[in-house]
Amino acid sequence: MIILENINEFFNEYPLKQVQCGHTVFTDYEKIFEVFDGSFGYLSYLEFKSEEDSEIFLGSYPLNGAEIWKCKKCGKLKFFYTETGGHFPQTITIDVDFDKNYKSDPFAKSVSFHKDKVNSFIEKFGFNELKDPRNIQKFNDIHIIEKDKKYIFGYNAYDDKITFNVVANRNVLREIFEFEKS
Ligand SMILES: [Zn+2]
Repeated sequence: MIILENINEFFNEYPLKQVQCGHTVFTDYEKIFEVFDGSFGYLSYLEFKSEEDSEIFLGSYPLNGAEIWKCKKCGKLKFFYTETGGHFPQTITIDVDFDKNYKSDPFAKSVSFHKDKVNSFIEKFGFNELKDPRNIQKFNDIHIIEKDKKYIFGYNAYDDKITFNVVANRNVLREIFEFEKS
């Protein structure tokens, strides 16, 4: 069985790495895994990457919302996701690159709560940059991150609500999700 934490082992041990597949994704492929698990709320569209070219973060858009599909005829593996940004949803496939190290943490999460809760949020989770959010980097770039650090990108205040994106490990993101619901 594939789980997020062992996905590199799964890829490393996968016997059919160099397959040229001429089959059709919609009829010949089947879904074998879903990256998104919903345990920390909505998907974020934030894109981030490692300083190291060999590392790919599964928690960055678009892979955070991707599925892994496998060709029933030849075993080829592809990431499969639906791009919803344009007028029509578009499905996109990316071959699994077996030379890369796919990281199951950190992930990006979109966070939103009433502005009165910001101090208790900072107290509980840190993120002191929320005290003066003018310096928080915008959402619209692909950010390069260090995998063991926590980040906030793309702060917005609207009416009584504040919204931002957090990059952190999934345990932290689950706690933040509980905080949002409390
Ligand atoms: Zn095939």
